[in-house]
Amino acid sequence: MKHFLLLSTLLLASCGRETTLPTESAKSGKPQVYVANYPLKYFAERLAGNAVDVKFPAPGDEDPAFWQPDDAAISAYQSADLILMNGAAYSKWAEKVTLPQSKLVDTAASFKAQFIEIKADSTHSHGPGGEHSHSGTAFTTWIDLQQGIQQIQAVATALEGVAGTGAKAAVQANLATLKKEMETLDQRLLAVGKRIANAPLVASHPVYHYLARRYALNLQSVLWEPEVVPDEKAMEVLKALLSKHPAKWMIWEGEPARESVAKLEAIGVKSLVFDPCGNVPDSGDFLSVMTANVEALEKAFP
Ligand SMILES: [Zn+2]
Repeated sequence: MKHFLLLSTLLLASCGRETTLPTESAKSGKPQVYVANYPLKYFAERLAGNAVDVKFPAPGDEDPAFWQPDDAAISAYQSADLILMNGAAYSKWAEKVTLPQSKLVDTAASFKAQFIEIKADSTHSHGPGGEHSHSGTAFTTWIDLQQGIQQIQAVATALEGVAGTGAKAAVQANLATLKKEMETLDQRLLAVGKRIANAPLVASHPVYHYLARRYALNLQSVLWEPEVVPDEKAMEVLKALLSKHPAKWMIWEGEPARESVAKLEAIGVKSLVFDPCGNVPDSGDFLSVMTANVEALEKAFP
């Protein structure tokens, strides 16, 4: 019975193919590339230009790592010509969904052996995604810019596969330029890391593991949000941390509330922003945001 059902499903599937509506790619004539986060969208667009349509359906106000796509978004991923995933357990939704393996590229696969495992922390929430935890594999892979370059390389190879041989020269040329820009920022971060010289730093959220490892930052985290002013309890948690880890700077994911900055100033901690840029920024693009991040660190540690 099972075999019969499987066979009839296959027959239905193949019959359906003839009568199915034109796919997205048939409409635009371009390969449809679905991506898991904004860095991959930026990389794909920089590398392929107009040769493909890059689609990133996550809403702008959610962390794409904890986003739960609806059925329509899931089937859009499933019918894409290419699916670029971040890897490192990034898209929690993809663990419960079957995606076509032949279309799927894990852009972090080449440095899998270097993933960082985070010990259990308490759950918390930000945005509409509900409670979550950062325990398990650290997934903000690209802020080690050398890992970012490896992801760019994987995106380039995958794009050449779907965009056809005609696009190859352009992808290679764009790859060389983008790599060079990333290398420059990587060098600047290495230099600022040296100047920081292991001085303790604190982060507003546990998303900087790869940044800390690559650039030798002595970083510990609390579970704060840029738009939420820390209450007394949160301040006590920070003060307890500072008693063992006397940081003079807090690194925020986004522009912190003015009141938060003032509360920190009062206990001798200054604020700077290093935006991991997992979602589309309000202004600028991935590279301008990363450049601003580097400049913020350089300004703090001249
Ligand atoms: Zn979180």
